[in-house]
Amino acid sequence: MVIPPEVLALIQGLEGRGYQAWVVGGCVRDDFLGLTPHDWDICTDATPQETAACFSEYPLILAGEKHGTVGVVTSGGPVEITTFRREGDYADGRHPGWVQFTRTVEADLARRDFTINAMAYSPSRGLADPFGGRRDLEAGILRTVGRPEDRFREDGLRILRGVRFAARLSLQPEAETLGAMTGLASSLANQARERVYSELCGFLPWAKAGALITFAPVVTAAVPALAPCLGFAQHNPHHIYDVYTHTAHVVDNAPPRLPVRWAALLHDVAKPACFTTDGQGVGHFWGHGKQGGEMARRILAELRAPRIIQEQVATLVAYHGLTRELSGSDRGIARLLRKLGEPAVWDLLALDIADDSGKGTPPDVAPFQQFRQRLTDILAAEPCLDRRQLAVGGQELMALAQGPALGRLLNRLLEEVGDGVLENSKPALLARAAQLVEGEAECTKPNK
Ligand code: ATP
Ligand code: MG
Repeated sequence: MVIPPEVLALIQGLEGRGYQAWVVGGCVRDDFLGLTPHDWDICTDATPQETAACFSEYPLILAGEKHGTVGVVTSGGPVEITTFRREGDYADGRHPGWVQFTRTVEADLARRDFTINAMAYSPSRGLADPFGGRRDLEAGILRTVGRPEDRFREDGLRILRGVRFAARLSLQPEAETLGAMTGLASSLANQARERVYSELCGFLPWAKAGALITFAPVVTAAVPALAPCLGFAQHNPHHIYDVYTHTAHVVDNAPPRLPVRWAALLHDVAKPACFTTDGQGVGHFWGHGKQGGEMARRILAELRAPRIIQEQVATLVAYHGLTRELSGSDRGIARLLRKLGEPAVWDLLALDIADDSGKGTPPDVAPFQQFRQRLTDILAAEPCLDRRQLAVGGQELMALAQGPALGRLLNRLLEEVGDGVLENSKPALLARAAQLVEGEAECTKPNK
């Protein structure tokens, strides 16, 4: 294992003073997989005070000292050094009731969640792997340390961590581990929403359809609004899958950008609520995009997602399917560009392609190719997409309108310029603005 020099220096600093020091957890796992660990954690039998004393010449982060962790700021970034500890009595299903320092690395590894995360390595002592983490990693198996049911009851968030590791590292959960993950999924309701959100964000970019289906009870416990989609038959010749299975394929097909993956997960969330059948028994879901956009915003707000993500996802969900409808219309595409902005339109196209290829029927790519071509051409012509690109600004129109009326006037000018019916020059815009204000005044004049 190649340990970065600044981490090695910390290990040697502790070992040189007679303490044990091991790299532990995710970094050992990732190194065995040939991945570059994104951080290195050290565990030791030194107490936090002893650790801090060893590294007094470094900047230290002592916020976690009570729980046994000292952060040492090295040239490669902060490294957490945690005293071996045991935990017990998770009465609330989230936090240990007590934490005790302990003397052996094996006791420390026993508190960790999965065998693949319960390995430690020391350059002088070799590998500590009391639960067969390396064997499980090689066999592609996700297995808890100890009885799965006990471990998930202690801390329900481990269920979602398990889903994330399984997806990210292509692991199959061992039968009992899977049984406990799905059986205890409802305990996710007690977990802090932001932590659920953050685990889902770690999972979604890696999620394959198979994982979403295997872990459906976990996903629907984390996002309860998706539960009605499970097994919901679509009664539609374009679809062979139920809504949830279709959703799983769409997520899998979508590019791994977070807002697009979230939108893929939620794009049909309103389908069960919008379902109707026509005279021929064919299923329809009128309005599910719009309603889904509102639901997506609520779901993400409840999960404490950043506002920008709420906005982006709600927009993609609300407008999904539109790139197919607009593929033949330059004017429609230009309007969409003005409304959503260029990045969102590309994301929408990616979502719609993923949606189409997740139906289980032969995909119909022609409209999307056409949309992409037209979009590329429109952008190459450097269209006027924003009020700031107009040849007149709000200042110059103040004499004609103020406040919201001024905003409406500018929007109208932008629309006409964008549609190609008005020249983007100062005289043309001023003349048209005067005409529009005049017209409005005419319309609102009381009848004599
Ligand atoms: P990554 O950082 O890539 O998400 P990681 O395994 O390093 O993966 P961290 O959250 O950084 O995950 O945690 C470091 C180690 O701490 C884990 O490898 C695991 O041994 C232990 N650990 C973290 N969270 C838990 C938990 N909820 N229950 C038990 N052990 C945990
Ligand atoms: Mg980590």
